[in-house]
Amino acid sequence: MRAGCSLAASITGGDVRLIKARFPGLPVVTYVNTSADVKAESDVCCTSSNAAAVVEWAAREWGVDRVILLPDEYLAKNVAAQTGIKIIAWHGRCEVHERFTAQDISELRAAHPGLVVLAHPECPPDVMAAADFAGSTAALQSYVEEKRPGKVVLLTECSMSDNVAANAPDVDFIRPCNLCPHMKRITLEAIYDALAEMKTEVTIPEDVRVRAKLAIDRMLALPKEKPRAFATGLPLAAVEVV
Ligand code: SF4
Repeated sequence: MRAGCSLAASITGGDVRLIKARFPGLPVVTYVNTSADVKAESDVCCTSSNAAAVVEWAAREWGVDRVILLPDEYLAKNVAAQTGIKIIAWHGRCEVHERFTAQDISELRAAHPGLVVLAHPECPPDVMAAADFAGSTAALQSYVEEKRPGKVVLLTECSMSDNVAANAPDVDFIRPCNLCPHMKRITLEAIYDALAEMKTEVTIPEDVRVRAKLAIDRMLALPKEKPRAFATGLPLAAVEVV
């Protein structure tokens, strides 16, 4: 029950209601790393794979030039740079990805000549700009499997990086380890106990469940596209962080 997420903890349903009151008529796109309460106040959910596509869809569907994208400030800034759509963002951060810096990339490149640097879009925009390729975990995995770089570093949570490394034994992975303490609390043993004893049940009020599911269903109903890579080296875009 203690396995949280700094992004999910950064915002409440009440915060989303206040943002909607301040920016009436704008669609609210919410990252999946949020509570059911927050999803229930949102129009549509997104993942790091489809964030840019969902924001573009929401702008078209609502006929607006601004979209509210919550709660990850860096994902919002990176999506704004990709899409050219003005974004209203929240000041949430992933405590793992926000630790990476452009300086880390310079030092890694100096220590490992020929290194290919891949970054996740929860990283700060200057890290994205300095990387060779950026995208969701699925996009990073596809890049490694298709391009088979000789030496690579994945600027993301290090267990996720380990999962990608397991499928590419011929690739040399440099591993600066930023571990998520919340993910590490989810163990096979704990999952077994929860299922065997049907304990640590999470309950959600029915009206919240129904509204949260609507936001998820809207995302799932959108046409599927290949996880989109984020262009690197883009200039910073207009984002209002509230
Ligand atoms: S790495 Fe941890 S803190 Fe960051 S988004 Fe994932 S669960 Fe949340």
